[in-house]
Amino acid sequence: MRPRVAFFSFGSCEGCQLQVLSVEDVLPELLSVVEVVNFREAMDDRGDDYDIAFVEGSLVKPDDVAELQQIRARAKILVAIGACACLGGVNAMRNRRPVTELAREVYDGRQDGVFAALPDASPLSSVVQVNYEIRGCPIDRIEFLEAVRSLIAGTVPYVPPFAVCVECTLRGTPCLLERGIPCLGSVARAGCNAVCPAYGAPCEACRGFHEVPNFEALGEAFFRHGMTRTLAAEKLQLFNNYREVREAWEQAVPSSSAT
Ligand code: SF4
Ligand code: SF4
Repeated sequence: MRPRVAFFSFGSCEGCQLQVLSVEDVLPELLSVVEVVNFREAMDDRGDDYDIAFVEGSLVKPDDVAELQQIRARAKILVAIGACACLGGVNAMRNRRPVTELAREVYDGRQDGVFAALPDASPLSSVVQVNYEIRGCPIDRIEFLEAVRSLIAGTVPYVPPFAVCVECTLRGTPCLLERGIPCLGSVARAGCNAVCPAYGAPCEACRGFHEVPNFEALGEAFFRHGMTRTLAAEKLQLFNNYREVREAWEQAVPSSSAT
């Protein structure tokens, strides 16, 4: 029996689902080992009987909570895919300010009745048990296929515990931080093969943090290389601004730091 698989989406750009759809070169092999019963972006069928739910996006609307709980109740395994689902992601940038204030600003005083929003955008794990996470913004298609292979084999998908800096060193990418470019690779979780620094772009920690991130050292390194600790805090807010994720760095790198 092939495991039945379903895909769902909450507050997101749906870029992670697009990554899944980009596996067309191995689609016949994939469909020979799993049966897809629900995938709004790809098919009309809406099956409610599934073993594995892949869920993208963060919780942003009141209705999202009950919908996710229903998915959790039906799925044997729930996998969060992407930064939005695992960390709050870019949606959680709004968590620093009251949602009513933001709605007023964005909708110019006409926000009443336009939409209902939760006070905070939050990751799936804030409401239900998440069995596995596939990190990244967006996720990597190969990593997704590896995770499917592990789940079918009954093993745990591999998540590297170390920093992006390790992957930079392994592939011989010169350190951006040492050139005064604000890179978060020393605290960011690896697994992307340090793709951004390899192209000269600083890491923004879209995969969250590795197991022993030293935020104080990150702030000091920014300062030593001519940048402020406040800049480090601003960058950490991009993908990692959900309350419980933020608590990890906020004390060591306060956003109101004068230096
Ligand atoms: S993690 Fe990134 S690519 Fe995936 S849905 Fe969120 S914003 Fe889009
Ligand atoms: S280098 Fe950093 S920002 Fe870029 S994909 Fe990897 S973890 Fe994400």
